[in-house]
This record gives sequence, structure tokens and C-alpha cells, in this order.
Amino acid sequence: MSIALGRQWIEQATGIVGFTGAGISTESGIPDFRSPNGVWARNRTVYFDEFVRNEHDRIEYWRQKSEGWPGMRDARPNAGHLAFTELARRGKLKAMITQNIDGLHQASGLDSTLIHELHGNGTVAGCLSCGDRTPMDEAIERIQQGERAPRCRRCDGLLKPATISFGQTMPMEVLANCQRAAESCDLFLAVGSSLVVYPAAALPVVAKRAGARLIILNRTATPIDELADLVIRDEIGKALPALAGVETSKQAGGSGYDPVLE
Ligand code: ZN
Repeated sequence: MSIALGRQWIEQATGIVGFTGAGISTESGIPDFRSPNGVWARNRTVYFDEFVRNEHDRIEYWRQKSEGWPGMRDARPNAGHLAFTELARRGKLKAMITQNIDGLHQASGLDSTLIHELHGNGTVAGCLSCGDRTPMDEAIERIQQGERAPRCRRCDGLLKPATISFGQTMPMEVLANCQRAAESCDLFLAVGSSLVVYPAAALPVVAKRAGARLIILNRTATPIDELADLVIRDEIGKALPALAGVETSKQAGGSGYDPVLE
């Protein structure tokens, strides 16, 4: 069981599905929402129906988003994100499923048609009525100018970050696409996820049952480690480029930043 074996499997694979969780983005300096000091521990959860019903809940929700925004806005993709982009460039990566809302896969140059965001995207706000989208920077600027819960400029509907909130239904279409990708891949590469949040955590199981190889790269154990063909516990920015056969010197030279490690 080693990186060399995983690297060999990745070289042989023709249809890889990548799956990422918070662990890949903590290496870009984005805190895990579920960590003891994360947003969820420090703030009251505003459920989706509360957001829709009450102005004061919308104000609280946007206050929390404003607080977390600079960290997300300034984060840059790390060597782990870039390794997935490289696998796509080689034609190996068929789908990139992510639980993250930070848009770092897009920022790493990955074709957005490959990306399936299970929990939405926090870099844009969407109108709950007409669907019109506004960059998050603009929405936050309006809050700073005094609109405490901004509304859609087109139809006056409720503007909300385009993420899936507690109590909000995950779009069935996104989930169905992920399911299809998992069923038809030959290698499922789960990275930086503790694989405990359902239905996302079921996807590697789906892939494995359909005959794919399963590689799990995460700092801590997951409930399905026993099912995996290979489990690696290491820094993602170090281990993933090695698995993907990406030259680290090229990564550092081309990206112009140093990944922030925990
Ligand atoms: Zn609207």
C-alpha cells in the first residue's frame, strides 16, 4: 500500500472521478466549517425556512457570511487542486465532485462543466425568485453600504449565497449527475473528506460497487476506509501531486504562491 501503487492505478485509469471535502481547502487557509473554531461552532445556525420567513434571520445570515467572506475571497488553489486540473488536462478526470463551496476548483483552471458542487457555491449570490446571480463581492459591498439583507435588483426577491443551507433541499439533478459519474468511473479518488455527510458519502460506495478502484486520501480515518483499495493519510498538497505524477517544482513555479498548511 503506497503512493507508488496509487500512481500506477492513476496512470492506468481512463475515467477518474475526483471527490473533495474541506480538507483540501484548509490547506488553502479556509477553515473547516465543522472544526471546533469553525463558523458552525461560533454562530447560530440559520435554517433555510427561517431565512425565507424572517428579515432578522436574513440579516444574521448575511452578517455571518460577511464575516467569513474575506477568507474565502483571498484563498488561492493549492497543489492539490492543481493536481486535479492536471488530471483533467490529460483527459483522465471525468468529473470533479466537491462538498466545498469556495470555488477553488474553478480558480485552479478546471473546466467548470466537470465540476459538481453538492453544497453550492459561496462566491456568488442568487435570487431565490428569479435566479439572477450577483458576484459575492458586490453583495457584500451592498451590505457594507447599509443594506443589511440585500435584495435582487431585478425583481426585489431574496438574495442568498448560492450555497445549500441547512434545511434546504440539495438539487436532485446535481446528485443524479454525481451518482451517474460514480457508477461509470474506473477510479474514485476521495480527497480531504471525512466521508460522514450523506448523501455525498455514499458516492464512493456506489463507485466501488460498480467495480471502480477506490483511493481515499485524508488526514483522519473515514467510516469506509476498509472498503478502499488504498488509504493515504498525508498532506493533500504533497500526496496528491505525487499520486497524479505532477512535478512539484512546476507547480510552485507556475502558481506563484505557497500553500498554507495547518
Ligand atoms: Zn430576482
